[in-house]
Amino acid sequence: MTDFVTHVRNRVSDDREFVFVRDDGGTDRLTFTELDRRARATAVWLAAHGLTDEPVLLLYPAGLDFTVAFLGCLYARVPAIPAPLPDVGAPHANRVRTLMRDAGARLVLTDHAHASGLSNLSARVPDTAPADPDAWAPPAMSAGTLAYLQYTSGSTSDPRGVEVSHGNLLHNLELFRLLARRPLRRLAGWLPHYHDMGLVGLQLQALHAGADLVFMSPGAFVARPVRWLELITRYGADWTVSPDFGYAWCTRRITDEQLAGLDLSTLAMAISGAEPIRAATLAAFERRFAPAGFRPATWNPGYGLAECTLMVTCVPQGQGVTVRRFDPAALERHRAVPAPEGTPLVACGPVSGLDLRIVDPDGLRPLADGEIGEIWVCGPSVALGYRGRPAETRATFHAGFHSGDGRWLRTGDLGFLLDGQLYVTGRIKDVIIVNGRNLYPQDLEEAAARANPAAGRSAAFGVRRHDGGEHVVLVQEMRRGQPGDLGEAADRIMDRVTREFGIPLSLLLVPRGAVRQTTSGKLRRRHMRELFLSGRLTPLHAELEPAVNDL
Ligand code: ATP
Ligand code: MG
Repeated sequence: MTDFVTHVRNRVSDDREFVFVRDDGGTDRLTFTELDRRARATAVWLAAHGLTDEPVLLLYPAGLDFTVAFLGCLYARVPAIPAPLPDVGAPHANRVRTLMRDAGARLVLTDHAHASGLSNLSARVPDTAPADPDAWAPPAMSAGTLAYLQYTSGSTSDPRGVEVSHGNLLHNLELFRLLARRPLRRLAGWLPHYHDMGLVGLQLQALHAGADLVFMSPGAFVARPVRWLELITRYGADWTVSPDFGYAWCTRRITDEQLAGLDLSTLAMAISGAEPIRAATLAAFERRFAPAGFRPATWNPGYGLAECTLMVTCVPQGQGVTVRRFDPAALERHRAVPAPEGTPLVACGPVSGLDLRIVDPDGLRPLADGEIGEIWVCGPSVALGYRGRPAETRATFHAGFHSGDGRWLRTGDLGFLLDGQLYVTGRIKDVIIVNGRNLYPQDLEEAAARANPAAGRSAAFGVRRHDGGEHVVLVQEMRRGQPGDLGEAADRIMDRVTREFGIPLSLLLVPRGAVRQTTSGKLRRRHMRELFLSGRLTPLHAELEPAVNDL
């Protein structure tokens, strides 16, 4: 079988269901049989409107209507583009228009509740009442057929539409399935359906595995994180996925009283990925939720990106977390040298089902174990390319070594292999090079956050000095703070970072919300750099090095 639709239709049954827990606590449910029927009706409507092979934007709130629309598009061979529902207002509509132009999409689909708010985009609600689901005839599909467009989150550049094929999807979801020792029955989560981890990791995963999905809105999770763990408790979920942020948020916000009602003992796998995984987050979550039955062996750290459908590597079920410590000075020289007191890094799993090489990004030659370089990937999960961007597609998806065979995906991420495990150290575009040292912004940000109890988000980036070297700028939000505190906070941060890293630093303390992130909660460091260089950051307090003052 070579297409995802045939695979899913073989799993249609009354025994499995999608359950959406609304923000008001009520539930919406659809069995796989009902989902399939409604998706067929949607596909009939799409085909009747001549939309076969025409990309269509899906602007839906979290919930089952999205699942139906997305599946309907797959059934109709209409490449869907899941995107965040814009707030009402012109600037957001502009963002949607940019996306539509980029993807060459002419139609927006939405639900009844949002149709009038999106009328300036001529959004349509599929009218499936008259459509006969039995009139659906599956269009020709094969492994190479485009399934949907996944926009990247836009943390390092403008979002680009990754073209994911049916073959990509089947291969990547099969890799996921193989992580579990036995079939998992019930998946739970809160991730947005317009990001790869929520779309593939929850929605499509459940359809592929023939597992139940219980899910809730990202907004409900952020407002009250205990709701996610209550979902796991109430439905006895055995599987969940989240970025590091989600686990950290639970540890920070869930009260003792809330904890007393939780049971996480049914969980067999808790996947963490999509952003740097902090050893401290895993350890703190384990400690905090051990009384609720959470077992450390439940963790599955993983690494992936939209360009490879979702997953590249992941620790299989039951193998637990490997955290190793490495000499920080050696890491800066792009070598991983184990050191008992060094920087802890979390292993993101063995290479399995895909080819992976660590490559010198300048010399384009493969590196040895323990050497840090760019992560390159090759295999059936690697997507077709970027929509409408042939030059970027060639550069990113058809890379070759100096001897050159041109089948490799350049991830833009840095990492190394050691004892059969992949460790991810950062992104090429974010690394700041000071006097030949490679500094990772997340290390500087963490040190700065530890130095200031009132710290919100921090973002570190490099700016070029006149002499050609780079200088570090750190922007930190103040969560609370009277003006009198600012100088003191700045002193502590400057002192800590300078002492730990031995580098000069420029610091800007900014109000809460000023450090920008993507809709998936990733820092937009490049964007912060642009704001800084164009004088568009209004700090509460600034300590600028002379090197920066005359930039
Ligand atoms: P854009 O490409 O538009 O800048 P993005 O790369 O953040 O956005 P995604 O494809 O959603 O969009 O995210 C993939 C990226 O997330 C990876 O390239 C990598 O940088 C990061 N990432 C994923 N897993 C891990 C991990 N385990 N550790 C560190 N970083 C990770
Ligand atoms: Mg990316």
